[in-house]
Amino acid sequence: MVSVSDAQAIILNLVQPLDHQRDTEVIDLLIADSRILAKPVTSPLDFPHWDNSAMDGYAVRYEDVQHSSENPAVLEIVEDIPAGYQPKSTIQPGQTARIFTGAVIPAGADTVVMQEKTRREKNRVFILDAPKPQEFVRHKASFYQSGTQLLPAGIKLNAPEIAVLAAAQCPKVSVYRRPRVAIFSTGDELMTVEQPLQPGQIVDSNQYALAALVRQIGAEPLLLGIVKDDPVALKKVIAHAVAIADIVLSSGGVSVGDYDYVDKILESLRAKIHIRSVEMRPGKPLTVATFPTQNSPLYFGLPGNPAAVLVTFWRFVLPVIKKLSGITEGWEPAFLKVRSHDELRSNGKRETYLWGKLHLINGVYEFHQADGSQSSGNLINLAQTNALAVLPVGKTLIYPQEEVQVLQLSNS
Ligand code: AMP
Ligand code: MG
Repeated sequence: MVSVSDAQAIILNLVQPLDHQRDTEVIDLLIADSRILAKPVTSPLDFPHWDNSAMDGYAVRYEDVQHSSENPAVLEIVEDIPAGYQPKSTIQPGQTARIFTGAVIPAGADTVVMQEKTRREKNRVFILDAPKPQEFVRHKASFYQSGTQLLPAGIKLNAPEIAVLAAAQCPKVSVYRRPRVAIFSTGDELMTVEQPLQPGQIVDSNQYALAALVRQIGAEPLLLGIVKDDPVALKKVIAHAVAIADIVLSSGGVSVGDYDYVDKILESLRAKIHIRSVEMRPGKPLTVATFPTQNSPLYFGLPGNPAAVLVTFWRFVLPVIKKLSGITEGWEPAFLKVRSHDELRSNGKRETYLWGKLHLINGVYEFHQADGSQSSGNLINLAQTNALAVLPVGKTLIYPQEEVQVLQLSNS
């Protein structure tokens, strides 16, 4: 049995990011949100593209207006420059141009006086207050210089990055393809959501949970259905999953019961089993394996219990999908330190994950444990939770109002 932190290190070392040349696709920027940029982007455009005004006001020569606070300068307005037009004149001593936010600064001018600091009379304007030199001028290339790196590879494209790419006139972007995650469930007791249940039978909810988790993280679920506790059928499905996926997730059949065949079949397929169980609750039976093939997927034999499936996915599978997806940082789960509203208990023998909800109380997060059983077989009270409190090995009790480490879940 390995510790949770050792398991995380072992697992993360077993996957490599997708290939930045082979595993990419070029897609429309409009549908690129949440995708991972595969190539660095460089732009031939400077930002700003030209010197432009940050205010509605008057473009002036600083030397003409520098004493305006004591003695208002009077300037002749020679041109109106709205945003989107090229100025026609060069500002001479004693002249100014009416200018609007975003408009090009005319030649000769070096400073903008905001309109609130002026008084206009026909084609003359009084400058009532001296500006600072170059005030309210956004200089060409001061935000970004053409030819340098605009965005690095390996970042997630969210609204700000999409906006930057649009501004840089990149209508198409090269992104990593979505990681492919094969999912199947094992167990003679499992039925689909539509089938009537006979005594002893339950619905295969794990397949639905895993499909949702995989899709949420931006990967592609390949649903392979329910497989009986039958070594022949299992072997066939595992071999197929291994051939088509980057990651394989099975649930059930990895414990020590007579019908738990997954590990034996993996061995018969010459898989190397790196982990068989983790010092964690829920989630002790967890098989992690690789195959002696080129581009072997990483195989996770997740526990069957529905709560254990979700918890082990959040703790171990999510970081691996992130690493695989090409994103260059932030794979590991981020823990917050928050106050616990409730008393939290563990037997102290394994790192214990308790599910509940983070509530914002006066702007500070507080963890509230879910009511009802924290049994790994109980799925019902996981609904409407958004966090897992973590009690390390040896910690048996957290008092109300004591600090606790919490894993914030993305389904909040
Ligand atoms: P196992 O690890 O196969 O012994 O399964 C442990 C427990 O999880 C048993 O109570 C199973 O009935 C339950 N279980 C296994 N697979 C699923 C599934 N796909 N959906 C819901 N419950 C499951
Ligand atoms: Mg089973």
